[in-house]
Amino acid sequence: MTESYVIIGDGIAGSSAAETIREREPDADVTVVTDEGEPLYNRILIKEFAKGKLPEAPISIHDEDWYDDRDIDLALNTLVTGIDTDAHEVYTHDDETLAYDELLVATGGTPTQLPVENSDADGIHHFWTFEDARRIKEHAEEASTSVIVGAGLLGIDLAAISAAQGLDAHYLMRGDAWWRYAMSKEGADIIHDALREKGVEPVFDSGVDRFETDDDGNVTAAVDPNGERYDAEFVGVAIGLNFNLELLQDTGVETDNGIVVDEYMRTSVDDVYAAGDLTQFHDTILSERAQNGSWGSAKQQGSVAAKAMTADDVESEVDAFRWVSSYSITHFDFPFLSFGFPTIGEDHAERKYSETEWRRIAFKDGKIVGGVLIGNLAPQSKYKQLMQQEAEVADQRDVLLRENFDLEDLDVELEA
Ligand SMILES: Cc1cc2nc3c(=O)[nH]c(=O)nc-3n(C[C@H](O)[C@H](O)[C@H](O)COP(=O)(O)OP(=O)(O)OC[C@H]3O[C@@H](n4cnc5c(N)ncnc54)[C@H](O)[C@@H]3O)c2cc1C
Repeated sequence: MTESYVIIGDGIAGSSAAETIREREPDADVTVVTDEGEPLYNRILIKEFAKGKLPEAPISIHDEDWYDDRDIDLALNTLVTGIDTDAHEVYTHDDETLAYDELLVATGGTPTQLPVENSDADGIHHFWTFEDARRIKEHAEEASTSVIVGAGLLGIDLAAISAAQGLDAHYLMRGDAWWRYAMSKEGADIIHDALREKGVEPVFDSGVDRFETDDDGNVTAAVDPNGERYDAEFVGVAIGLNFNLELLQDTGVETDNGIVVDEYMRTSVDDVYAAGDLTQFHDTILSERAQNGSWGSAKQQGSVAAKAMTADDVESEVDAFRWVSSYSITHFDFPFLSFGFPTIGEDHAERKYSETEWRRIAFKDGKIVGGVLIGNLAPQSKYKQLMQQEAEVADQRDVLLRENFDLEDLDVELEA
């Protein structure tokens, strides 16, 4: 009998799963359902489009022919509204029922709205989809003032878009530093200076208490908890994601601010798998549950899920998910990269090498669990290798922080 695979979500996790399933199961029925109106595109690059630096075409990864050529059914503009895991059925907004033998949930997240007055006013943008990027670009091109909220990796994209579009921008942050959970003030100051150079003014110990609007409902200003008022025709909010879990209510699938999966992307319910940003996965490096919002990790999880979905004996046929992610930012004259889980360390080592070069390594139980590199990214692969191999090197931080450190300088045995 022909196996039937249904995948909800055509982001990088869902799409890479579809590709892998087809490679392994030439005759199976494979269906990908997405509520977006276009097939997989490069979410990482939509910021360059919104800046006005890249046309639409190179951002697309697959066109509809890509699915046709692989005999994968792609349902665009189709919202999945329910799942019955006993009946092995998925329901869509237009009353379609899709039967599955194996189901993958790869629905990612939706940006969180600020819980303040007027947070749904026109001109307040959240950033996740290509459609968002089109709206952001169009509005940023005509606005002259902006406020950005959210001192993390997505907030800084919105700040960089403001800068590239020539807006007079204020970047409101809660503490005294950008991405303060992963960086010290010394490291973050490099980013603050670079933002100022681009015309974005960081404002610390701030945030948004409420938005002001005009009579037509357009945002005009943000007022922070200190009572300071910042003109803003354009507002960008990036304070986190709400994972798209509502489909799983009453299905028995275990959730915990994400879908709980093991290292093969299996959920607590037979024949239901999950991959990508929304998983709370068993991380085989940390030996604990983890969550990761990055492209490479989502792609790899999609591939592992597909292998598990198509395997007869998962443990013996499939390599478990084991991945050190990285996330880079290219908005400034210097490169920036974070890897692993830079925010979960219980101990840190850091050094500043120059005005635009800084490094921080996060340790847990004596092992590297993540880090941030500014300026010189050359050591990244060595740190990632040490993390991947769970090397106990926290006591050798002087070597690790040498500007051009060599793995051979460490007193540790590594696999080739
Ligand atoms: C602006 C921006 C910049 C980024 N930059 C980087 C970067 O530099 N480096 C990096 O590593 N990562 C970056 N990321 C993060 C990265 O893009 C994500 O980690 C990755 O795309 C997650 O993939 P996913 O497949 O898990 O989820 P998503 O890409 O979110 O895909 C989920 C899909 O499921 C669809 N969906 C949800 N619910 C339903 C439903 N009920 N029915 C049908 N379809 C549904 C959604 O519309 C969406 O298309 C960036 C993200 C953004 C938004």
